[in-house]
Amino acid sequence: MNVLQSREGPPANPNYDHRYDAIVVGAGLAGSAAAITMARDGLDVLLIERGSYPGAKNVFGGVMYTPTIRELVDIDSAPTERYVAERRYSMLTEEDEIAASVSIGDWHEPPHNDSFTVIRGDFDEWFAEQAVEEGATLITETTVTDLIREDGRIVGVETDRPDGAVRAPVVVLAEGGNSLVSESAGLKETDHREHIAVAVKEVLEFPGDSRKIIEDRFRLVDDDGAAYHYFGKGAVGDAFGGAFLYTNDDTISVGLAYRIEDAVTEKISPQDRLDEFKSHPAVAPIFRDARTVEYGAKTIPEGGASAMPELVHDGALLVGDTAGLVLNNGVHLEGTNMAVESGFHAGKAVVKAFGSKATPRPADAATAGTESAGQVRADGGVSNTTRPSVTVRASDLQSYPDSLEQSFVVENLEHYEWLINRVVEDKQLLFEDLPEALADAAAEYFTIDRQPKQTHGRLAKERIMHTVGGLRGAIKLGWRYRKMIR
Ligand SMILES: Cc1cc2nc3c(=O)[nH]c(=O)nc-3n(C[C@H](O)[C@H](O)[C@H](O)COP(=O)(O)OP(=O)(O)OC[C@H]3O[C@@H](n4cnc5c(N)ncnc54)[C@H](O)[C@@H]3O)c2cc1C
Repeated sequence: MNVLQSREGPPANPNYDHRYDAIVVGAGLAGSAAAITMARDGLDVLLIERGSYPGAKNVFGGVMYTPTIRELVDIDSAPTERYVAERRYSMLTEEDEIAASVSIGDWHEPPHNDSFTVIRGDFDEWFAEQAVEEGATLITETTVTDLIREDGRIVGVETDRPDGAVRAPVVVLAEGGNSLVSESAGLKETDHREHIAVAVKEVLEFPGDSRKIIEDRFRLVDDDGAAYHYFGKGAVGDAFGGAFLYTNDDTISVGLAYRIEDAVTEKISPQDRLDEFKSHPAVAPIFRDARTVEYGAKTIPEGGASAMPELVHDGALLVGDTAGLVLNNGVHLEGTNMAVESGFHAGKAVVKAFGSKATPRPADAATAGTESAGQVRADGGVSNTTRPSVTVRASDLQSYPDSLEQSFVVENLEHYEWLINRVVEDKQLLFEDLPEALADAAAEYFTIDRQPKQTHGRLAKERIMHTVGGLRGAIKLGWRYRKMIR
């Protein structure tokens, strides 16, 4: 395979004189999707990853959404942990919980609603391998430090390896949310503070038969998994955001994400906030005796469609989190599907831009699991093939933003753009007053005493109506959020 460094092997030194058709910065989901798409259509692709293997540096919550991956590769060979059989949404006050659980019969059948918990270290490595199988060359433990420009066009990358400049007419920037290369090259602005969430996450295991304990505590059988989402004061205090809890095969992932602005103004650190959440009476029993085996922190771009940067430049495209393509609105935390979809459309646009300009790879390069003599030498270096000079302008790549615009990615970002702003405006009502009112109303409604049920029902209704501002307030609130069900 065209892997110049893998989990097992020592670093090999590629020959940087080689000109590729396209260089992809970052072997995450967006990067590998772009590499698969381009390599499959015959382009000579170099995929550069700074981690010691793809996924080594990746932090995410835990649910991989796979509709586009399924179209691209054989998903059955993917290293997934569990499919999501139950989704649970909980409002937490400081002591109480009001929850709704969704468990659909069809989710137990393939394709399992295309929702799987995964470990990114395993999944990203497998996904990048699919690009290698298509003929792409993967270099790990190599950080792209800058872009090379000529006559205003991007024509390659600088890396942290000795003599580490590599050239190609197109560079796909798939470096994730912390997109230092794109920002320093002026391809996008640094995200505004109100468009970033800070996230912390732990992976926990239980002593003894961890898998069995998880199945018992979450009422799971076989490969069933659970995705729990928590909101309100008991989840993230006064911050705007939420907490999550996902089941892997024999570990659980727990974390929370909230606006970085709140992290700055709140007196408590995200880690302490996570510890507080884990000790909430509604969830503490789940974590009994659990041991943290992994910890990570990361930022999530959540600016929506209007915060998206220019997606194409002369010689470059921005994909995935680098392009701000994450839907994080409380109910949905989806970035994996958007990353893959954008990588796919970007890859297709590059193929289209090249047209017949690409130098065909040697026939065997596209054969799964083989090394192409034309690409990787026996010493692991890349051979010095002469490439034709190809110029790719932003206008040649326009089909990428055009097709993304037509896809669920931009549709979803646009559709929910208003939601975050509205929820922020109503934060006190939605995350504090209403959960407390619902908990009080539920306590009232289910009270067992010597009063008639009707009395408790009336008092429960009054408690909620008082909080939302009576009938007028309830209608106004429904109207403010009507787009959610459109
Ligand atoms: C805590 C948390 C929870 C989340 N939970 C979910 C969830 O449950 N479901 C969901 O769908 N989404 C979730 N997301 C969002 C999701 O993880 C991202 O949207 C998705 O991973 C984006 O993929 P990407 O390929 O754009 O970037 P990434 O997955 O971040 O990949 C970028 C890659 O580029 C590499 N790289 C970066 N810079 C360089 C460089 N200069 N040179 C070489 N390599 C470089 C990195 O090492 C990395 O491998 C979550 C995010 C966070 C932070």
